[in-house]
Amino acid sequence: MLGAIAGDIIGSRFEGESEPPRDFALFHPDCRFTDDSVCTLAVADALMGARDFAASLRAFVRRHPNRGYGGMFLDWALTDDAPAYGSWGNGAPMRVAAVGWLARSETEALELAAAQAAVSHNHPDAVAASQAVALAILLARSGLPRLELARRLADDFDYDLAESVLKPGDFDISAAGTVLPALTAALTAVDWEDAIRTAVCLGGDTDTLACITGAVAEAIHGLPDHVSKIARSYLTADLYGVLSRFEVAMHLPT
Ligand SMILES: [Mg+2]
Repeated sequence: MLGAIAGDIIGSRFEGESEPPRDFALFHPDCRFTDDSVCTLAVADALMGARDFAASLRAFVRRHPNRGYGGMFLDWALTDDAPAYGSWGNGAPMRVAAVGWLARSETEALELAAAQAAVSHNHPDAVAASQAVALAILLARSGLPRLELARRLADDFDYDLAESVLKPGDFDISAAGTVLPALTAALTAVDWEDAIRTAVCLGGDTDTLACITGAVAEAIHGLPDHVSKIARSYLTADLYGVLSRFEVAMHLPT
C-alpha cells in the first residue's frame, strides 16, 4: 500500500502538467501527500476494523481538509449521511490499494473493492475500476505472471491493456480513463520507479495516475527501500500510525 502513497506524493507536484520530463527528481520540496493518500489510509483503517468505509473516509477527510479533494466528494465527506452521488471518477480506484493486500480471496477482494467504492462512487465504471485494481494487486501478490494478469483484466473487465493507452492526453479523471494507463504502466515497467515515471509523464491527473500505478507496481515489482523510507517522512503522525498498523497486519517491515 505504501507504493500508492509514494506514487501520490511523487505525482503531486506535476498535477495538471501536460508532459513532465521523464528524468524528474522523485522527491522534491514541492511534493506532498494529497487526497489519494488520505483516502487510501482511510480505507485501510476501515478494513482493519476501525469503522465502516463512509465513516472512516469522512473522519480522515475532516482531519486533513486541504488535500485537493474533488468538490462533490468534499461535499459528501463533510455531510453526515450524504448518499453516494453516482460518481464515475477515479476517486474510488485511487483509494482501494489496501483491499488488494488484506483480502484473503478473489471473491473477498471484489466484494470489498465494490463496497468501498459504492459509499460515494457508485457508478458501475468506478466500482469496476476499483475491483480491477484490487484484483490486480491480489493476483500479482500471488505470483501470477504479468501476461496472465493482463489477460484476466481483459477477460474480467474488458480492459485492453495495449501500450497504446500510454499516451499523454487530456486531463482524464474518469475511473476507467485513469486505471487503464495506470495498470498498463505497472504491467509493462521493468521496476516500480520505471512504472511511476511512465505514469507521471502522461501528465494530467498525475498524483492519482501515479497512486494507482504505484499501488499495482508495488505488488508486481516491490517498492525500492529508498522510496519507502522517504515517502514515510511526508506523512503526518496519525496517517503514519495507520500505515504502521497495516504493515504489522501484513507482517511487513515497518
Ligand atoms: Mg490527489
